[in-house]
Amino acid sequence: MANYWNKEIECMSREDMKKLQDERLVAQVKHVYENVPYYKNLMDEKGVTPDDIKSTDDLHKLPFLTKADLREAYPYGLLAKPLSDCVRIQSTSGTTGKRVVAFYTQNDIDLWEDCCARAIVAVGGTKDDVCQVCYGYGLFTGGPGLNGGSHKVGCLTLPMSSGNTERQIQFMTDLGSTILCCTPSYAAYIGETLHDMGYTTDDIKLKAGIFGAEPWTEEMRRSIEKSLGIKAYDIYGLTETSGPGVSFECEEQTGMHINEDHFYPEIINPETGEVLPDGEVGELVFTSLTKEAFPLIRYRTRDLCVLTRKQCSCGRTLIKMSKPMGRSDDMLIIRGVNVFPSQIETVLIEQGYTPNYLIEVDRVNNTDTLDINVEMTNEQFSDTIKDVQAKEKELAGAMKTMLGINPKIHLVSPKTITRSEGKAVRVIDKRKLHD
Ligand code: ADP
Ligand code: ZN
Repeated sequence: MANYWNKEIECMSREDMKKLQDERLVAQVKHVYENVPYYKNLMDEKGVTPDDIKSTDDLHKLPFLTKADLREAYPYGLLAKPLSDCVRIQSTSGTTGKRVVAFYTQNDIDLWEDCCARAIVAVGGTKDDVCQVCYGYGLFTGGPGLNGGSHKVGCLTLPMSSGNTERQIQFMTDLGSTILCCTPSYAAYIGETLHDMGYTTDDIKLKAGIFGAEPWTEEMRRSIEKSLGIKAYDIYGLTETSGPGVSFECEEQTGMHINEDHFYPEIINPETGEVLPDGEVGELVFTSLTKEAFPLIRYRTRDLCVLTRKQCSCGRTLIKMSKPMGRSDDMLIIRGVNVFPSQIETVLIEQGYTPNYLIEVDRVNNTDTLDINVEMTNEQFSDTIKDVQAKEKELAGAMKTMLGINPKIHLVSPKTITRSEGKAVRVIDKRKLHD
């Protein structure tokens, strides 16, 4: 039996949702045009005024906004409310360059936390749950967002932040945490540490995990579910739009429902900017519909995914997005072939390796090289060099089938690749050093 935080919205008829989005979009565009000179200039350049925007059907007339705009307008250039009305700032993790800051009014915080509450309830969270939040707290949105959502639902909230993994497990066992919120790479590390400390899943009460902030594969999901004895759910968001909770997974675990009453999604061809129909892979673009301090119109996330309106068995009518397979800028072009780190992760776990790996790309004599360092499990760890070489060859063959190019595999000893407590760094691209 599905549970909803806000059934009226989450199960709203498509017609009513469209009406709500249309009304909100008109107001949001007017709000930015009147209060943000940066937006007014962009719209003037395109020859579009708020009067041209009567519904979401007119969205395509509006200019895109990119991370470069956010950096250019840093820090106050996109602020749509007086600073005295703002109560918080958060900042991106800076994964792909200079950080970006986002501003929130109290109302913006309430709506954001409400989105996170929807995600917690969707995984079965109630006021009887103990919710352990080990996303980082501070400028990063992960900790504060899920913390606020957990409070709204009425869970007993453990604001652990990330790190100190043995203490995480001590609290988990002592206090009987039932819901775990962190990055999937940290969840994998927590699972590994739990077993290293001599516990089994019988010693913990966890039932569900809400994992996001970085790309992860279905294989990784199954591996975490097994190691922690839980159901693992995806959650997506970005600082620019508020933080986690832009979309969340339900019991069906086949993609994330977008909180469309606050964030209007489009998928575009990243090369041409053309809007693509549902079902096609492209870059996700969001328009906020209700934000006060830091609204975003047609913000290009650079995340690649697919949208679907297929009816979901949970009863929610909210559109769904697939797991982002990575950002357009995560994609590696190696000897002319497009490679996503997530493809490498899929092969590794399928072949019985742990998700502890590091990808190194370089250019030697004008040719791109791809080296994948992979940790062996204790069982795989074998002393004979011949055995290891045979395993490396076998794994390279499986990679070649998936990627279309031949990588060099280096099997390394257990526990030699640095574990992640937040967003995992999976790729070192040394070619950039030569450019
Ligand atoms: P940064 O862009 O510096 O990493 P954020 O902390 O705001 O800053 O991270 C947002 C980004 O994290 C998203 O644009 C997306 O690339 C990634 N992300 C967030 N949630 C997920 C998820 N569930 N799956 C894949 N990627 C995700
Ligand atoms: Zn659903």
